[in-house]
Amino acid sequence: MTQKFEIEMLPVLDTNYAIFIKCCTTNKVAMIDAPDDDKILDFLDARGWQPDMVLVTHRHWDHVDGLGKINERYNPIIVVPEAEKDQISPHSETIAPGAILPFGAGHFTILSTPGHTSGHIAYFLQEQPTLFAGDALFSVGCGRMFDGPADAMWQGLRELRRLPDETALYCGHEYTIDNIKFALSLTQDHQALKQHLQWAEERRAANQATLPSTLGFEKANNPFLRIDDPLIAKAVDKLGAPEHEIFAAVRKAKDQF
Ligand SMILES: [Zn+2]
Repeated sequence: MTQKFEIEMLPVLDTNYAIFIKCCTTNKVAMIDAPDDDKILDFLDARGWQPDMVLVTHRHWDHVDGLGKINERYNPIIVVPEAEKDQISPHSETIAPGAILPFGAGHFTILSTPGHTSGHIAYFLQEQPTLFAGDALFSVGCGRMFDGPADAMWQGLRELRRLPDETALYCGHEYTIDNIKFALSLTQDHQALKQHLQWAEERRAANQATLPSTLGFEKANNPFLRIDDPLIAKAVDKLGAPEHEIFAAVRKAKDQF
C-alpha cells in the first residue's frame, strides 16, 4: 500500500525533532512545532517544500521559537492550542480538543493531553493512523509534569491508549534510552524492554532515531501507559492507591532517576 502521507523527522537543537508531513495527494506540507534551528530551513529548501500549516502542540520555547522565521519565509497557517494562544506568537488560528482539522486529503483529530503544560494538545492523523504527541508522550516515557495536575495528565494518556495499536507515534524529543533505563528500574525482568534498550543503543550509536514507535508497543511497554497495571503500582509502593496517585509517584520517581 502506498502511503498517503510522507512523514519526515529532523533532529534539531539538542534533543528535539522537527516533524514534517507531506500529503502525497495534494503536495501540501504541514510541520509539527517550530524549534528555532536553521536546519529546518535547509531541510525544507533541499526538498523544495513550503509549509502550508504549522501545528503547535504547546507553548514551550523549544517548540515555538522558530515560528517567526517560518512565518516570515512561508506565511503558513499557524495553528496553536486555544488554551495557550496568549503565550504563542505569531499564530493565525487556535484549536481546542475535540476539533477536527482538515489538512490536504486528510484530517487531524485534536486530543487533550494536559499536564506537561496545561493546554498541551496532540494531533492524530486519521487517514494514516499517526499520533503527533509533542511532549505529552514519549517512547517508553512521558513529558515532565510542569503544570499538572496528575489526574488530568493521566486522563490524557489514557485517552491516547484508546488509539489503534498500529498508530505510529512521533514525539518532540529523543529520550528513549533514558526512558527505557527508568522503566527497567521499575520492572527489571521486562524482556521486551531489555531487547528494546539494546536496539535503541545501536540506533543511537549509528545516529539514527528511535522513533516513530507504535501505540501497540507503548501500551505494552511504557510505564506511563500502564499506571493501572499492579506491577507498576507495586514498583512505586502504591498498590491499591488511586490511579492519579500512582501516576504522580511514577512521574516523581522519573524526575529523580
Ligand atoms: Zn515541552
